[in-house]
Amino acid sequence: MSRSDSESGRTTAIIMPMQYRQGPGVIRELPEAVARFGERAQALVVATSGGLERLGEPLLADWRAKGMRARFAEFGGECSEAEIGRLRTEAESCRASVIVGIGGGKLLDAAKSAAYRLELPVIIAPTIASSDAPCSALSVIYDEQGRVAKLETHPHNPDVVLVDTEVILQAPLRYLAAGMGDALATAPEALACLRGGGRTILGAYPTRLGTAAAELCGRILEADGVQAYADAGRGERTEAFERVVEANTLLSGIGFESGGLAAAHSLHDGLTELPECHHLLHGEKVGFCTAVQATLLGEPDETARFLTFCRQIGLPATLAEAGLRQTGAELRGKLLVAAERALAPEETIHQIGRTFTAAEIADAFEETDRIARRLFA
Ligand SMILES: [Zn+2]
Repeated sequence: MSRSDSESGRTTAIIMPMQYRQGPGVIRELPEAVARFGERAQALVVATSGGLERLGEPLLADWRAKGMRARFAEFGGECSEAEIGRLRTEAESCRASVIVGIGGGKLLDAAKSAAYRLELPVIIAPTIASSDAPCSALSVIYDEQGRVAKLETHPHNPDVVLVDTEVILQAPLRYLAAGMGDALATAPEALACLRGGGRTILGAYPTRLGTAAAELCGRILEADGVQAYADAGRGERTEAFERVVEANTLLSGIGFESGGLAAAHSLHDGLTELPECHHLLHGEKVGFCTAVQATLLGEPDETARFLTFCRQIGLPATLAEAGLRQTGAELRGKLLVAAERALAPEETIHQIGRTFTAAEIADAFEETDRIARRLFA
């Protein structure tokens, strides 16, 4: 069978939010977004008390003036079965017709899961741009000890995503950088998945549009990432900042889900096995692991490029900065623990179409660290 014959027999797939709106002040559109689900639609709005405080009383008054019917539920802090069950009960008791999540990744994931289990639509309004969670049809569910218990896939992506860039600009800079770390992996992972003949988490092959979203995400970070980081640091909402928020949130979301994942996220999962790395945000680990993926694939120029980018936006760019200050056999032992986890059967590293050993992965971590220390000496 020729290459084109085998390709034409494959199923490709893409999924994405029904509606995505980004810009300064779009959070004010929430009443209209809720009303789309019925004239007398009742919303359960999940937020933290600090989050609502930051949005401010004038906004809440504006929502009330527009006639938005809402009950507010304070988020408990963890996306766990207990928390999802509690939100579900709250939604049932106020006869909610739509669930709204306003906040960060775990809160948004809990809102998505509660809505999915009640077969209700969900509106997502991220207050930080720290990962590609807002647009995805996935929730990461944790156990009561804070360990990842499972990934829940939903039958569809959020109905509406409202990304208010004024709100995101006010968040600590660390979150924007972490979002860029997560988004940095999107293009090289999608390309490694494509070249390796791998499948996406949808169980299908990548659509060209999924791959293109990932590549555009990478180009925006390269052109605008450092500028956006500096602009946000000065509190300026510039075009570069707007483009990077779209890259972190929408393009990375479509790119990872429908373009494919590869080694970087598996290496990240490996680092979650090490308590030394627990203080880091998801994207802070993924950025460094993007450089390790390039080393693993024999692309040292890419390794250097990714490490330089991480360094420029304050992300960990050496093992020590990622929390691993051990040396010699002690460090090697830690890296082998991470490597074993990265090679677990469910991990996306297998989509590359090559087999790796734990020793090769530990080598790649060490070699990336050497390249980094030479670069930044
Ligand atoms: Zn990620």
